[in-house]
Amino acid sequence: MIRVLARHSEGVFDEATFGLIAEARRLLADIGGEGKVTALVLGSNLSPESLSALGPRGADEVLYLESKAFERYRGELFCEALCELLSKGSPSFFLMAESEETSDLAPRIAAHLGRPLINRVVDLKIPRKGEVLAFRPVLNGYVFEEVAAQCEGGPVILSFLPSVLTADEPDAAKEATIRTESWMATKTSGVRLLEVIEADPGSLEIEEAPIVVAGGRGMGKAEGFSPLFELAECLGATVGGTRPVIDAAILPFERQIGQTGKSVAPKLIVNCGISGANEYTAGMEKSLLVIAINKDPRARMFNFADLGIVADVHELLPLLIARLKEIKD
Ligand SMILES: Cc1cc2nc3c(=O)[nH]c(=O)nc-3n(C[C@H](O)[C@H](O)[C@H](O)COP(=O)(O)OP(=O)(O)OC[C@H]3O[C@@H](n4cnc5c(N)ncnc54)[C@H](O)[C@@H]3O)c2cc1C
Repeated sequence: MIRVLARHSEGVFDEATFGLIAEARRLLADIGGEGKVTALVLGSNLSPESLSALGPRGADEVLYLESKAFERYRGELFCEALCELLSKGSPSFFLMAESEETSDLAPRIAAHLGRPLINRVVDLKIPRKGEVLAFRPVLNGYVFEEVAAQCEGGPVILSFLPSVLTADEPDAAKEATIRTESWMATKTSGVRLLEVIEADPGSLEIEEAPIVVAGGRGMGKAEGFSPLFELAECLGATVGGTRPVIDAAILPFERQIGQTGKSVAPKLIVNCGISGANEYTAGMEKSLLVIAINKDPRARMFNFADLGIVADVHELLPLLIARLKEIKD
């Protein structure tokens, strides 16, 4: 039996959750195929329609815990509720996708249940019955380490990097059994929510940003990057770059995309003045919609683009920014 934490925003489940369910199905097959994949959903006032989106993605069962307490993330309450669910039915694995919240939640659950946690997982193997071997990048992705955990006696908690999760195509014929239970905390939370401050999209980590504007050597020197930042502001995007841009200290290392940088899978990525070297595209090929702007029509970047524009970035970006501002107004 495998349980998956289904992440949603007001009932809309994210791609990482669908990817996790696909991962759970593969893992279930590796351990012999017996049992079910159960999606655990914590929320308030979610409709049956939104919960039913998880069946076609591969969940056999959806367990929805409803409580006003789940309107916003609160580590101690989420931990209490999930530990209750994980203590029943002897699941072998509990899968979640890395995020700010799960970085807080996963160690809480692991400590509470006294079970192993492996975070930043990119791949898994079952070397023998009762054991799991997980792979994760260390030292900025230059090397990978293998971490082994025993599956006997309770769930192993595995937190995956969202960029490695790939969802299966939805199968409309598949339906999950949906169980709804209301939940009450046994203790009052020591945390009070004072205010919610929305993040400035420009300051988001590039792996978490839904829209990325990326610049390459074709943007020129540091001053040439101003339109890139302006475009990012218009789109509510965060800025990333290729290695030469990071080497030239125009952007910090944590904004590098690619084999030796970060892997991103945003809904939209706009690549400006980037040739599309293998080491770069390895870090962004899972993006949903790819736009490329390059003055060389033979640039490799166009092979990865849903929309390619052959143009000089310094001519095109000001026009694009002016048009976006017009639309916004
Ligand atoms: C071991 C190793 C690891 C690496 N890891 C990474 C990595 O993680 N990430 C990474 O990015 N690279 C990495 N690289 C480097 C990689 O091989 C490429 O050199 C790099 O991605 C190229 O960056 P670029 O596209 O910005 O520059 P270039 O390849 O120089 O391309 C610039 C592009 O801009 C276009 N251009 C120029 N002027 C304009 C203009 N005015 N308007 C429009 N287009 C214009 C050009 O036509 C060209 O296609 C690695 C290399 C190695 C050997």
